[in-house]
Amino acid sequence: MPIDATLPYDETNIFARILRGEIPNKTVYEDEHVLAFHDIAPQAPEHILVIPKGAYVSWDDFSARAGDAEIAAFVRAVGKIARDAGHVAPGYRLLANTGHDAGQEVPHLHVHIFAGRPLGPMLAR
Ligand code: AMP
Repeated sequence: MPIDATLPYDETNIFARILRGEIPNKTVYEDEHVLAFHDIAPQAPEHILVIPKGAYVSWDDFSARAGDAEIAAFVRAVGKIARDAGHVAPGYRLLANTGHDAGQEVPHLHVHIFAGRPLGPMLAR
């Protein structure tokens, strides 16, 4: 079910539980502000989720409330993860669903990194 991205942060969401260590993940990268792990249902040969460790519902929430250090760390981590995995030359796609019409299902900001094959059209028609 897509979420309403205007609702307050829900501490019980699955990524909050991953951050608290309550459920496992396949970690790709971690630093003070960021965790990245493999998507449980990959939609490309490479499908990584990058999340801030802070409690932000969506890109909207993060861009409005996060501090400069968190934002810088997050943006740099997304680039580094893709670069270190060798995805720059063949190419990759970033996606951050926000709210109902985008189909956001987990109410904790996450950027998808898709790579590993030609990724097709930008949106379903
Ligand atoms: P979105 O639709 O943008 O909110 O994407 C949520 C993503 O989270 C989907 O691609 C799911 O496959 C992924 N996902 C849900 N639960 C887990 C989990 N426990 N570990 C890793 N990925 C997950």
